Amino acid sequence: MFENLTQRMSRVVKTMRGQARLTESNTQDMLREVRLALLEADVALPVVRDFVARVKEKALGVEVADSLNPGQALVGVVHQELTNLMGADLGDNASELSLAAQPPAVILMAGLQGAGKTTTTGKLAKWLSEGGHIQHGRKTGKKKVLVVSADVYRPAAIEQLKTVAAQVGVEFLPSDPSQKPADIARHALDHAKRHHFDVLIVDTAGRLGIDEEMMREIRALYDLLNPIETLFVVDAMQGQDAVNVAKAFADALPLTGVVLTKLDGDARGGAALSVRHVTGKPLKFVGVSEKLDGLEPFHPERMAQRVLGMGDIVSLVEQAQRNIDIADAQKITDKIKAGDKFDLNDFRDQLQQVKKLGDMGSLLEKLPAQFSQAASQLQGGQAEQQLRRTEGILNSMTPAERAKPELLKASRKRRIAAGSGVSVQEVNRLLNQFEQMQGMMKQMKKGGMAKMMRGLGG
Ligand code: GDP
Repeated sequence: MFENLTQRMSRVVKTMRGQARLTESNTQDMLREVRLALLEADVALPVVRDFVARVKEKALGVEVADSLNPGQALVGVVHQELTNLMGADLGDNASELSLAAQPPAVILMAGLQGAGKTTTTGKLAKWLSEGGHIQHGRKTGKKKVLVVSADVYRPAAIEQLKTVAAQVGVEFLPSDPSQKPADIARHALDHAKRHHFDVLIVDTAGRLGIDEEMMREIRALYDLLNPIETLFVVDAMQGQDAVNVAKAFADALPLTGVVLTKLDGDARGGAALSVRHVTGKPLKFVGVSEKLDGLEPFHPERMAQRVLGMGDIVSLVEQAQRNIDIADAQKITDKIKAGDKFDLNDFRDQLQQVKKLGDMGSLLEKLPAQFSQAASQLQGGQAEQQLRRTEGILNSMTPAERAKPELLKASRKRRIAAGSGVSVQEVNRLLNQFEQMQGMMKQMKKGGMAKMMRGLGG
């Protein structure tokens, strides 16, 4: 997703050197690239215009720090604005669901047919019933969830929700195509209250296009249910159209949030930006698989980083949490971010963490491009072996040597090679690799992402 933005910008970054300020003229080319890249990513034109104007306004007059070039400084501004557009301006807890103090908390699902409402209903039910949800930094605990379908038009819709509910192990309230949606809703609310459900999720009918009758119907359901969350479900593949659909729903209903589905597909992802911009509502979740565990909370900062090719270090750390020491992982992540001096002791710590991570493939995808390139050179089983050898070499060094690799002259290298059963060349290779890595960390510190991006687009 957004590969073009990264590539286009990195090309322009290279041409913008040696100027102390961002000005109308030195930002013009860059802004054109941003504009084109966003259009290519299927972001709607009015959104692109607005975004570029905002970046321009923020950028003009920005002082370019010594270690940066103007292109990099501009990338910084773009990143910040992108993060804002994705919802960072709404505050930290914006992507959390609010669950009513007085149960049941009703969640109303809205969106076109095929957007992923039923699937997302199942995913959310699973998420909440398993206690995955976090509110104000705390897990909310396991919720007793009831799901019901008010889709009386598509014959298989009710049956589909029944199947999904059985798969995730939550209670399904049967409904019937001969009933009126309002009656189904009333009955469901009553049932949820009487049986002390914490959450009631109401799946609704969708149409292939926006139509007035559907809007009236869902509005009536809204009035009747008084939901605490009204989620607009939209397919990330929708591209330009997403804007019109989002606008129609936002006009008809007081939405509280957006779920963007099918981000795992080859959607260019522009819908994320468009929908957020048009509705003004936070993206709360993204759907990343057809499977019912394929739901992730949305994080503006991470999405913006992904867009710019930074990889997704934070998700990486989270994915690894089950296996590794969180504090250590955080220390390393912080170090990478801050560009602090990164020595062989850190390198060794990092390797130890990597060993515990398990499945390399899915992790590599989340790393910034340079890391994953370097790592992909280590293939399959070789990776394990290589890792062990590298660790052997590092373990044969003293802590002082690891802290100050420049101490490693020929005689020490011979000792380390003998100690770890490898050749001196191999020790040298490791030191070279490490030096490259250190260089990269320095670049990250100086130029932030911008410098890293230079290496990316080519
Ligand atoms: P509804 O008509 O809005 O209820 O949409 P459905 O829930 O029936 O979903 C339509 C199709 O999209 C189904 O084939 C789902 O499996 C698929 N789908 C939904 N969410 C996702 C997702 O996040 N990723 C992928 N790959 N497919 C999804």
